[in-house]
Amino acid sequence: MEQPLSAAARAELLNGLPALLLPWYDTNKRDLPWRENRDPYRVLVSELMLQQTRVEAVREHYVRFLRELPDVQALAACPEDKLFKLWEGLGYYSRARNLQRAAQAICEHGFPQTAEGLKKLPGVGEYTAGAVASIAFEQPSPAVDGNVVRVLSRYLGDARPAAELRKTLAVELAPAYPAGRCGDFTQSLMELGATVCVPSSPLCLTCPLLGGCRTKSDALPLPEKKPERRKERVTLLLFRAGERVALCRRESGVLRGMYAFYTEERALTEGEIARRLAAAGASDAQIGLPTAHRHVFTHIEWEMRAYPVSCGGREAEIAAAFGVTFYPLAKVREELSLPSAYRWALRLFGDRAGAD
Ligand code: SF4
Repeated sequence: MEQPLSAAARAELLNGLPALLLPWYDTNKRDLPWRENRDPYRVLVSELMLQQTRVEAVREHYVRFLRELPDVQALAACPEDKLFKLWEGLGYYSRARNLQRAAQAICEHGFPQTAEGLKKLPGVGEYTAGAVASIAFEQPSPAVDGNVVRVLSRYLGDARPAAELRKTLAVELAPAYPAGRCGDFTQSLMELGATVCVPSSPLCLTCPLLGGCRTKSDALPLPEKKPERRKERVTLLLFRAGERVALCRRESGVLRGMYAFYTEERALTEGEIARRLAAAGASDAQIGLPTAHRHVFTHIEWEMRAYPVSCGGREAEIAAAFGVTFYPLAKVREELSLPSAYRWALRLFGDRAGAD
C-alpha cells in the first residue's frame, strides 16, 4: 500500500469526484422507482426501507407502500396492522414504526429541510439525514454509508476502520458537493458502490475513478471483526383449534409489538409443556412432534423448536392461560403481518389446520 495522502491531496481527489462521477451516473444509473421524482416523503421512505435491505427486495415493497400510503398524512394515520403488513418481508420492523412516528412529527411541524433538522426525526441518523437533505432538498450534506466508505477507502487508499472513516469522510466530502447536483452526487457515490465498486471483485476496468484510484482491488476496506451473535434456545407452541390458530403480541425483546406464536425464550421439554397445559385446565390437549428451525437476527440467533398443540376443545382455557387469541388460519396467512421468524411455522398447519 502507498503512503497515506496529505490532507491537501485528499481534498483534491475528493473535490474532483463530481466531475468524474456525474457523467458516469447520468448514463449508467439504474431505473429505480424512488428515482422517479424527489418528493421528500418518497425519498425518506426509500432511504428507511433501504437500510440493511437489498435494492431488489425493496423495489416491489416500495411501489406497493407508496400506492397504499401516497403521502405523509396517509402514513401518519395508517393503522399499525396495515403498516406492518405493508412492511412484511423487509424485516427490522422498528424502521416501520419509526417511519410512521416521523410522518406524524412532519404532519405536526412540517418537513425539515436540513440534515440537522432531519436528524431529529425518529429513526433518522447521520446517513439518512444526509441522503434526504441532499436528494430531496439539494443541500451539500454528505451521506456516508457502508457503500461510500468502501468506494472511498479504496479510492484514497485509506485503511482506517470503517467507523472512523465514516466520520472523517462525512466532514471531508461536504466541500465537494456541486451546487445544483447535490442529490445526484450522493446517488452517484451510492450507485458506484452498488454496481461497480462492489464488496469483492470490483469491476475496476469499467470504473470512472480508475485513473486516480490508489487500490484498484478489493484489498480495502480491511475486514472488521464482527461481534458474535448470542444464541438463544426458543420454544414455540402452535396452538390450533380446527381452522383457527393462536397468536399473541410480543411484549418485549426482539419483534416487540409484533404478532407471534406463543414463545418461551428457553427450551421447554414436552413434560413441561404438558404440565403447563394441565395447569391451564387443558390436559386433553395433544402435543405433536416438534420441528426445529433457526432464525438469525442481527445480534441474536434463535434455535427454535415448534410444538403443534391441538386444543382438544380447551381453546378458551388456553387463550386465558397463555395470553393468546385465536384467528382463522386464512386471516393469519393473508391479512396479519407475521414476521419471518414465525411465518415459516405456518406451513406446519398444512392447508387445513386440522381437527382440534
Ligand atoms: S478502481 Fe476499482 S477499487 Fe477503485 S474505486 Fe473503482 S471499482 Fe473501486
